[in-house]
Amino acid sequence: MRLTDISTIRSLFERHGFSFTKSLGQNFLVNPSVCPKIAEMGGADENTGAIEIGTGVGVLTTELAKRCKKVVAIEIDKGLAPILEETLAEFDNTEVIFADVLEIDLNKLIEEKFPDMDVILCANLPYYITSPVIMKVLEENTRVKSLTIMVQLEAADRICAKVGSRDSSAITVAVNYYAKAEKLFRVNRGSFMPSPNVDSAVIRLTLHKEKPYKAENEKLFFEVVRCAFSQRRKQIINPLSANFKISKEILSREMTQKGISPTARAENLLMEDLVALYHIIEQLK
Ligand code: SAM
Repeated sequence: MRLTDISTIRSLFERHGFSFTKSLGQNFLVNPSVCPKIAEMGGADENTGAIEIGTGVGVLTTELAKRCKKVVAIEIDKGLAPILEETLAEFDNTEVIFADVLEIDLNKLIEEKFPDMDVILCANLPYYITSPVIMKVLEENTRVKSLTIMVQLEAADRICAKVGSRDSSAITVAVNYYAKAEKLFRVNRGSFMPSPNVDSAVIRLTLHKEKPYKAENEKLFFEVVRCAFSQRRKQIINPLSANFKISKEILSREMTQKGISPTARAENLLMEDLVALYHIIEQLK
């Protein structure tokens, strides 16, 4: 069955009485070249287990199932169940869990379903949960080796920007703390049904085996990062001093001592500067 074929999708919908729910980000891929590339570039192979988020009619699920030892897909919309029963019928290495991915205990799922395998995550993500999904996988310290995911083009540029560049933001720093971020390829809006108003890109986040920068109190580190970027084009000393209730004089002196200009903007700071800033705040607050 060609799951990127529009008439095949329409026939599946008609037979199973399914209609799109826009609020769930249901833009299904109809460009046949995209899913094989996501699976290949995501590291799918016979020794690996894959987690997929959001199956749609199973277009990426089947590409993962062909290549991986096992696939566990999480889909929120139970209305897709009869369709998936049909489209995934030939794969006995694939299971669909009907749940909200944000409610799932990923570590438990990985231990139960993939006890003896490397684990990758691949998805054409619903855009409304891009950042929460990425942060959930990264912050929960899962065994996932990499995330190869479709996101809005603008989000791809933000996430994969260099820390210390004009495009960087709090999510750039957060992702870089845990992983190496790469933009793999662009996918135009016409590759989806229905077609969204924006283009997309596939990115790959490969988790660091050893984090190059380590903040003992990660919660505080990310609070410092979010605060520094809250007024991204302004001098960081103002929001930091107000948020952490530290006088500007003291903060300015400590920053200068650590080689960070008190007039710096968040977008000018490198990872080592942000970690140094976190150490300053940790000592002073
Ligand atoms: N993988 C399919 C494809 O490429 O055609 C579908 C991708 S579509 C952009 C996003 C999918 O995620 C939809 O099937 C939608 O129902 C599902 N979804 C939306 N929110 C979700 C959530 N919170 N948890 C799990 N799945 C979700």
